Amino acid sequence: MSETATETPDPTHCDRCGASLERGWSERWSGKKRIHAWCIPCADRERLEEYAKTGELTTQVMVRASIDNALREYGKGVTCPSERNLLARAWASTEAIQRAAKDFERAVWFGGLAEQVRAAEHRGWRAGFQIAGEKHDVLVWSCAGRVVFTIEPADESRHISVICAEDGGESTMGIKGIMATEQQAIAMLAGACVAFASGMQFERDDKVGMF
Ligand SMILES: [Zn+2]
Repeated sequence: MSETATETPDPTHCDRCGASLERGWSERWSGKKRIHAWCIPCADRERLEEYAKTGELTTQVMVRASIDNALREYGKGVTCPSERNLLARAWASTEAIQRAAKDFERAVWFGGLAEQVRAAEHRGWRAGFQIAGEKHDVLVWSCAGRVVFTIEPADESRHISVICAEDGGESTMGIKGIMATEQQAIAMLAGACVAFASGMQFERDDKVGMF
């Protein structure tokens, strides 16, 4: 049990709607202080409201949009019109980013990096490039037959992570995680493609690991 867990008892009720948290909750911490605990529906609503305000996609919003999109084919999914619109917008963005991820796979992974990673003994790599003068990193980690790429600016204020199979020649790349607007995510993926075409080198970096 962590120090934090021994000091702060589990929450019992949602700070937003008062519902019982017996079936699970989502909480946010600031250092050792729990700022709030929400029931799952309230946490989903909060994330969507945040997305409506900022346009920044998170992994949770993306996953919800994907599930809602799948359910819609069966006439199900979210019924609230404003939530539905937001999820549809998030899904359209996800698809656009997914297309940029496929371009990245074609240009960078199959464009030479796959050979380099497959031939190496080590697992971590790093390359740097700039977008409008802002330094960005591409971190690469190969593990258990998968390769994870994270592209982020130096201040780590946003990121896009994609994943593909290490072996084989088919396209397997997909989004793994995100904290960025559609425009930012596409700019990071496309920027890495341009940089790679211009000679950006991936160097061994053993500090890159499970991020
Ligand atoms: Zn609630």
